[in-house]
Amino acid sequence: MFEKEKKEMLECALQMKEYQLISLTGGNVSMRMPDGLFLVTPSGMYYEKMVPDDIVVIDGKGNVVEGCRKPSSDTPALLYMFEHMPQINAIIHTHQPYATAIGMTNDRLPACMVTIIDACRAEVQVAPWTPSSDIGMGILATQYAGDSLAVIMKHHGVITYGDSLEQALFAAVYLEEASKTYVMARVMGPVPELSPEDIAHEAAGWATYGQDK
Ligand SMILES: [Zn+2]
Repeated sequence: MFEKEKKEMLECALQMKEYQLISLTGGNVSMRMPDGLFLVTPSGMYYEKMVPDDIVVIDGKGNVVEGCRKPSSDTPALLYMFEHMPQINAIIHTHQPYATAIGMTNDRLPACMVTIIDACRAEVQVAPWTPSSDIGMGILATQYAGDSLAVIMKHHGVITYGDSLEQALFAAVYLEEASKTYVMARVMGPVPELSPEDIAHEAAGWATYGQDK
């Protein structure tokens, strides 16, 4: 069931690792499927050793419908987000260091770079801390999402989402790149913010980026 999507999720997880957003068995990838079903990466498995069939098919209550692995421990939080954010079809959770570092000292990452506006759509809020594997992570991520495709979870990591896996991956990778730049700039001095007009102009240009599909 959903063989193509499972393969895409595994490729996405390996890209997350390549871009140094996750280490060892951390983070997770999940997708909304038809008929109230969801795909989620298994709990505590090395991504390099994972095969598409290790990805678990679950229902909206977290019951395993297909697969012999235990789903991610963040499954209750992920299902909460899918239920309360009907516009999203994919979620990525990482422990990416630069964005997470910003979350420990700031309450938001302003939309001060084109990559944040283009890939995350808006400034990124920092949600208060909740223990990992707790549904509270999903509740707070939903609450702090705003207009952005990313939320930084204080003392934990990042959650990005989108209408596709690619959109969520772009948000995570470009958020980390922008966070790294922001941290370096902050070391040298205060970082000026872009005006709402400049942000709106940049956001409008993104619609024509890339190749026609
Ligand atoms: Zn985590």
